[in-house]
Amino acid sequence: MATPRRVVIVGAGAAGIAAAIEAARAEVATTVIEASSVPGGALAASGGGCCIVGSDFQKSHGIRDSVDLAMEDWIDVGGPDADAAWARRYLSESAVEVDAWLTELGVRWRELKQYEGNSVPRMHVPLDGGDGLAARLYECARTLPIEWSFSSEMRTLSLDEDCRAAGVGVVGPDGSERFVPCDAVILATGGFCNNRKLLSMALGDRASHSRILLGGAVGSRGIGWEALSTISAAFTHLEHISLYPRGTPDPADPTGDRGMVVDGPGNAIYVNAGGHRFCNEGINEAIHRTDSVTTALMAQEPRTAWMIFDQLGHAQVTIADARYRRHGKPVREEINRMLATSPYIYSADSVLELAAKAKIPYSAIARTLADYNDAILKGGGDAFGRAVQGLETIASPPFLAVQLFPLARKNLGGVVTDDHCRVIGLDGSVIWGLYAAGEVAGMAGGHMNGRSGLEGTMIGPSLFAGRIAARAVANDLQL
Ligand SMILES: Cc1cc2nc3c(=O)[nH]c(=O)nc-3n(C[C@H](O)[C@H](O)[C@H](O)COP(=O)(O)OP(=O)(O)OC[C@H]3O[C@@H](n4cnc5c(N)ncnc54)[C@H](O)[C@@H]3O)c2cc1C
Repeated sequence: MATPRRVVIVGAGAAGIAAAIEAARAEVATTVIEASSVPGGALAASGGGCCIVGSDFQKSHGIRDSVDLAMEDWIDVGGPDADAAWARRYLSESAVEVDAWLTELGVRWRELKQYEGNSVPRMHVPLDGGDGLAARLYECARTLPIEWSFSSEMRTLSLDEDCRAAGVGVVGPDGSERFVPCDAVILATGGFCNNRKLLSMALGDRASHSRILLGGAVGSRGIGWEALSTISAAFTHLEHISLYPRGTPDPADPTGDRGMVVDGPGNAIYVNAGGHRFCNEGINEAIHRTDSVTTALMAQEPRTAWMIFDQLGHAQVTIADARYRRHGKPVREEINRMLATSPYIYSADSVLELAAKAKIPYSAIARTLADYNDAILKGGGDAFGRAVQGLETIASPPFLAVQLFPLARKNLGGVVTDDHCRVIGLDGSVIWGLYAAGEVAGMAGGHMNGRSGLEGTMIGPSLFAGRIAARAVANDLQL
């Protein structure tokens, strides 16, 4: 009997699990190699939001959307570096390839959000958050004949004498090395925003003279990228990295290198080291704009700020990290512990005391707060064009100050692939048998989003690309 043709999928996150389901359904012998002891990757740490156009959920909410409208928004936000062909393909097919597919697998949406840059609400938030979505995908995948190898890290990619993918070198949980031979490899190893060396190279000048926190998921260590560079794969747009302004150091990381994103209360303000506001805090940081909060923070000297709020805002703080969010809901106890114990978060019964603890000039911050509260009481806009109508003033002690640093969250550029997610080499030709999907491939093709992305344009496209890569494997192996 002939040996079955085997695909090795590296990474069990959004793209990897989607690829595994698709490959196994196409009857390709499928092995998944995952470095972590559990599946999910960044998907499980995320809110799980997917940008989808024309879903039943949108229609049931009376939302009229179209691919052309979404394309306009996408290109507006992604700029000329967005891959318009891949973006249009994704948007045109997202209702079937992502929404209908996830629905068939048992995923349900909780709500639709309209983040800045979108003309209509189209970010679909899953009922049980990103961890719930990952769990559901894995549950479905487990009903299929897939071989899972957890706590196993791919270190090397091997090509045969014809430059075809031949297998991967893996280090197992006991430290032993083994070679896993196969007919095709799908790399779905995620981004590198948890790898200081790669990040500094990609950020260039932006990384100098500032503390930029590592904000990718724990597994986003760039090993896939390193392995790809040893076999002369082509990369593109690596400089496009989503920098978030609301990073604060993760108390669980003794090196102080990793950070988490703090979502403050709606009325919080950010002040710089001089105690002055410097931006409209209401602008979404994921969007590339000259007046974005990230751009404003990167222009401060030093590049740090304090998020200021009071006792009323305390209960509204959330932290976008797996430890502080379960099934899409905040874990209040953990958040409160973090607010009380982080050395980067100060609490005080008066603004005077807060200023002393955070080492911010008292007169400046007192003036800043007075002006802001005044604008709220008057209604309308404030000095930075922020709509403050209906916001609470910051006046009820205790007052809190959370120190913020820029945080690198997501990679938007990656390894170049063709329309079937086959990896392209530096010489412009396909590396046969090697496929890449998800964040390692700028979702698909290398730069689907461009300089920045609408919310939800990482997970949806990663699932999409994982499916496309697996179908291409089945087709290329002539199954
Ligand atoms: C906190 C947070 C919130 C986010 N929220 C959203 C959101 O709401 N919407 C959205 O669209 N995007 C969001 N993103 C981004 C999104 O989660 C990722 O872009 C997406 O999950 C990428 O999918 P992926 O399959 O490429 O990578 P991942 O989901 O990260 O999976 C990669 C997997 O590969 C494994 N791996 C890596 N290297 C190796 C190796 N050498 N050997 C074996 N295994 C390896 C990793 O351990 C990981 O499990 C968020 C990201 C973060 C960090």
